[in-house]
Amino acid sequence: AGRLKGKIAVVTAAGQGIGRAIAEAFVAEGATVHASDIARDKLDGLRRVKKAKLDVRSNKAVSRYAEKVGDIDILVNVAGFVHHGTVLDCSEEDWAFSFDLNVTSMHRLISAFLPGMLRRAEMTGQSSSIINMSSGASSLKGAPNRYVYGTTKAAVIGLTKSVAVDFIRQGVRCNAICPGTVRSPSWEARVDELGRSVGGKDKAMEMFVSRQPMGRVGEPDEIAALAVYLASDEAAFTTGTAIPIDGGWTL
Ligand code: NAD
Repeated sequence: AGRLKGKIAVVTAAGQGIGRAIAEAFVAEGATVHASDIARDKLDGLRRVKKAKLDVRSNKAVSRYAEKVGDIDILVNVAGFVHHGTVLDCSEEDWAFSFDLNVTSMHRLISAFLPGMLRRAEMTGQSSSIINMSSGASSLKGAPNRYVYGTTKAAVIGLTKSVAVDFIRQGVRCNAICPGTVRSPSWEARVDELGRSVGGKDKAMEMFVSRQPMGRVGEPDEIAALAVYLASDEAAFTTGTAIPIDGGWTL
């Protein structure tokens, strides 16, 4: 405990799954955490965080939020959406929606918070840390039926490296986390959906697990542990990376 003591963090999509686990882990490590989600009620059970409704697709809402929150040390961009299907299933509208939610939202949040992160870095003498949620399904690996999802998550890695290189001498680090399959409410929904076409949830679960070299899916806490590390001063020498955490999926 105490690895993030004195730090101020913003976590998007903190209502459930990976974002929620990150918000909880940051609190446990002593950070002041601003937890937001488009669904305000999903934040309800979170303890010792500052809660706000935030739709990361709204430029206006994001800049208002950044003004209200003020200067921060840690920004974690978690919000994202999994579109299913190949290029033939993806309309231009689907494409635009996925890019807006998965990539442009990160541009919005970083644009709004970076000036304050630079100020904090200068003031504290410690680096500020931006953490972007990418995926193994990205430039790391082509995953079947994840056409626009994989494309957006590859873009997240490019965005991450571009920000990292531009601010490397100004005390801001920027890294991407690339999870494999992780248990979360939206993943459970994907299992249910697949279950309907393959003859049951158990069968669908088996299919998901069988593509995991380690023979299991990941837990949100395991991703949160990596986020704590990247957010903390222990990772002061780490920037511009895209770190797989996937039970060997991209191996
Ligand atoms: P999830 O999909 O179950 O939950 C997503 C959360 O995002 C919800 O609380 C939802 O209300 C919120 N959200 C949706 N639209 C929003 C918006 N416009 N503004 C703000 N919040 C919004 O969570 P998860 O499965 O843990 O996924 C979180 C992130 O991790 C996503 O970027 C996802 O692509 C990535 N990821 C997940 C997995 C996995 O297997 N679960 C694997 C790799 C990467």
